[in-house]
Amino acid sequence: MTPIEAAIAIPPAITLCYGLVCAGSPLGDCRKCRGFGFAMKTDRKGRPKRGKHCRRCDGHGKRIRIGRRLFNAARRTWHDATAEPAARAARKDTPPWR
Ligand SMILES: [Zn+2]
Repeated sequence: MTPIEAAIAIPPAITLCYGLVCAGSPLGDCRKCRGFGFAMKTDRKGRPKRGKHCRRCDGHGKRIRIGRRLFNAARRTWHDATAEPAARAARKDTPPWR
């Protein structure tokens, strides 16, 4: 395999692997609270202590991966484009980040 062939083959392989990760585990740890759901503080003696509730993940400690979010948006667009008009009108709108 020449270097050019490798340069062509590696990005689709990385994309495929990321797609498999998003399919197998669509939720990742919140990057702000690192999956705890709250911030970590220390008390005056230096011992770790529970801090404020995480507002980004609302205390769940999880976030939707970017690839899964793109997949959900594509699926929602496909569903809206192909749904019957009555079903389309009855559908509740969800915020774009869900
Ligand atoms: Zn969080």
